[in-house]
Amino acid sequence: MEEPQDPRRRVPRTDLVLADPRLLTAAERLGQGLVKRVVVATLARCRAGFLAPDPDVVTEAALAALPATATTLRPVVNATGVVVHTNLGRAPLSAAAVEAMVLAAGATDVELSLASGRRDRRGRGTLAALADAVPAAGGVHVVNNGAAALALASLALAAGREVVVARGEMVEIGDGFRIPELVESVGARLREVGTTNRVRLADYEAAIGPRTAFVLKVHPSNFEVRGFTSTVSVKELAGLLAGLPGENVVPLVVDIGSGLLRSHPRLPDEPDATTVLRDGADLVTASGDKLLGGPQAGLLLGDAGLVEQLRRHPFARALRVDKLTLAALEATLTGPETPVAAALRADAGALLARARAVAESLAHELDDDTGWAIAVPSTAAVGGGGAPGVELASAAVSLPASLATLLRQGDPPVVGRVRDGRLLLDLLTVAPEDDATLVTAVVSAVVAAAGRADQG
Ligand SMILES: *Cc1c(COP(=O)(O)O)cnc(C)c1O
Repeated sequence: MEEPQDPRRRVPRTDLVLADPRLLTAAERLGQGLVKRVVVATLARCRAGFLAPDPDVVTEAALAALPATATTLRPVVNATGVVVHTNLGRAPLSAAAVEAMVLAAGATDVELSLASGRRDRRGRGTLAALADAVPAAGGVHVVNNGAAALALASLALAAGREVVVARGEMVEIGDGFRIPELVESVGARLREVGTTNRVRLADYEAAIGPRTAFVLKVHPSNFEVRGFTSTVSVKELAGLLAGLPGENVVPLVVDIGSGLLRSHPRLPDEPDATTVLRDGADLVTASGDKLLGGPQAGLLLGDAGLVEQLRRHPFARALRVDKLTLAALEATLTGPETPVAAALRADAGALLARARAVAESLAHELDDDTGWAIAVPSTAAVGGGGAPGVELASAAVSLPASLATLLRQGDPPVVGRVRDGRLLLDLLTVAPEDDATLVTAVVSAVVAAAGRADQG
């Protein structure tokens, strides 16, 4: 029996909605499965009475609910003031790196010489750019990330042998991953020297023996030990190792973490590859997506023979980077200033001027000059487990903290930080061209908040 008054009967059919040309076009871009899932969810809303049972209304709602791309990863405005934010994907890539990735995404000559038609060295342009950027490195290699670089060095040089490392450098890098456990997981044994707060050259000297594969120095990038402390510098360690009796060749491997290639005036305590190599390190490992400002990658820089040994190790293949990473890394090395580098040298006065302009636009848009949006000086941080003691002078737009959730759930999501009952949108980590997006996002959040207040 027909029940014409039952609204479920009048809900448009899925295949009918999917046949709409606009949704067909969307399916070409986003995939049939994704578009169908959204349409089914939209029809469920319709069945529940939230939408008029009209094919046009349903189609419009489905179109509005479609994601911008076929990935669930959402672009986010990072207004946290943390330059390398791990939860937001670490370094944002430069426009040049993004463009390089897009161009490399199709068929590309990553392993082919177009001149000879023969196979060529994978990623040669990227490796050349890296070698150019760090002339102190005799050899360079790129793997999947910083942890992979250290794992490969430990595996190829120290499996079944000992790695000498200071106790104060037994670092946990985040999400429960510990450098010493990583080194041991590939079959190397750790020989710990010194205490949590102090280590001397003599401690290393006493520990080095026939079983030593290398001495490891790890930059404790995410914490500081203060007070009664002592460490041994790269220079001192290199001097010690150079003075070992003839047949005892013990390389010095330094995990600098952050990926700085040269020293940075605002980050005096952050080690850089060039200085560390000049000071006598044989091999440096580093990340590509922290202070280098590039894609996730692990850099291996140093003695040509050692790097070649790592590159030829069978496991190196399992840590190989793809063409997209190679493209983005090369563009990061040779292209214009990265967003990370720009943030590190940002001028606090200019940021405050931007914060004032944003606050004024908000007051104007919302016709409210009672000062709920104000420009304030703030302190930003490097992040990404780097330079824990460094404070970067910045400026922020200070808003009522109640907007934090609405902004985070907005489109695009804006993530700030809550301090002392206020939401700070720190502009050090926001590209100037996104200031207008911030204004729109805050206005939408305020409108949404007002809507909720009305309903409740
Ligand atoms: C971040 C970090 C690592 C790990 O690098 P990933 O690129 O995250 O794998 C290793 N060592 C140090 C000192 C680090 O700071």
